[in-house]
Amino acid sequence: MSSTSLTARLPRAELGNFPTPLEAAPNLSKALGGPNIYIKRDDLSGLSVGGSKTRIFEFVLGQAKAEGATAVVAMAGEQSNKLRELAAGANKLGMKPILLLHAVTTPTAMVGNRFLFELLGAEVHTTPIPERLDPAIKDVLQRLCDDAARRGYKPFMIYHPERTGTIGTASYVAGAEELLCQFEAMQLKPKHVFIATGAGPTTAGLVLGCRAHGASFGITGVSVGSSRDDVLRHVLDYANKCAAMLGVDRRISDTDFGIDASYHATTSPIAAPVKEAIELFARTEGILLEPTYTGKGAAGMIAAIRRGDFQQHDSVVFVHTGGLPGLFARSGEFGYQPYL
Ligand SMILES: *Cc1c(COP(=O)(O)O)cnc(C)c1O
Repeated sequence: MSSTSLTARLPRAELGNFPTPLEAAPNLSKALGGPNIYIKRDDLSGLSVGGSKTRIFEFVLGQAKAEGATAVVAMAGEQSNKLRELAAGANKLGMKPILLLHAVTTPTAMVGNRFLFELLGAEVHTTPIPERLDPAIKDVLQRLCDDAARRGYKPFMIYHPERTGTIGTASYVAGAEELLCQFEAMQLKPKHVFIATGAGPTTAGLVLGCRAHGASFGITGVSVGSSRDDVLRHVLDYANKCAAMLGVDRRISDTDFGIDASYHATTSPIAAPVKEAIELFARTEGILLEPTYTGKGAAGMIAAIRRGDFQQHDSVVFVHTGGLPGLFARSGEFGYQPYL
């Protein structure tokens, strides 16, 4: 990798185990009769049960700490990995985690991440507002901040589309740098990198970090929830706002990465290729994916391999972004039957 880190100037709180391993997956490669597959194990980042948000919160909570915050206030869904890793990170830094769960209209089961919010001692609030990007959500977050301030906390609001999204993107510029160093150390010249794309900052940071350092391999974001157009808009927006924040000249365009939106509309029941991907990783490498994010990302990589996009001597990399509790929250959907 060329030159020094683009994110060295940003405050960072140590929360996880970095660098995460980059591992070969020979049994998976063999089962697919395909290229050499490597897995970047960001699921092993360590905070609570780890995942991509640990890297994000090293930077976001680093900023919160630099501003003297004593509480963090954030919103996401009931099975949010982000809120789970946020609560764990806040606990580690001695900050109060205050969580707002959106689209909640009925009491739901204390399973998966929802269970862990309670176990981690977070203060949990709910709102029926369904849409994640509804501006009304910000008003609710502001009220929670005001309420925390009345109780003597100095709150730090993590409203995703704004500044913290850009900081989160920067964390994956650092993640890309970590990956490029590993490629260099292992003398690996990957042909392509696959990652699951949700709201966009993770993919935006990965693309920006790779391109800013001159890496030219392909990158595909496999959309887990949004249409191709929405993913493209969000990733470009995060990447280029982050480039400006970091003082990087390179800008990202739609030629810098691909989007696979084949699975974005499938939630429940779990789509057959997603279930197959989860079972294949588990049964060849003993690595656990889940249906909401990583199962879709892996299904996108497997489909590209089966399409013949790669040759046997090529190397491809799957970025495992974590999400383990989501697997347990949805175990009933796999259709495995109990027996005696
Ligand atoms: C949040 C998350 C992603 C996607 O990250 P975005 O930055 O929202 O695109 C992927 N995988 C897992 C497990 C996640 O929790």
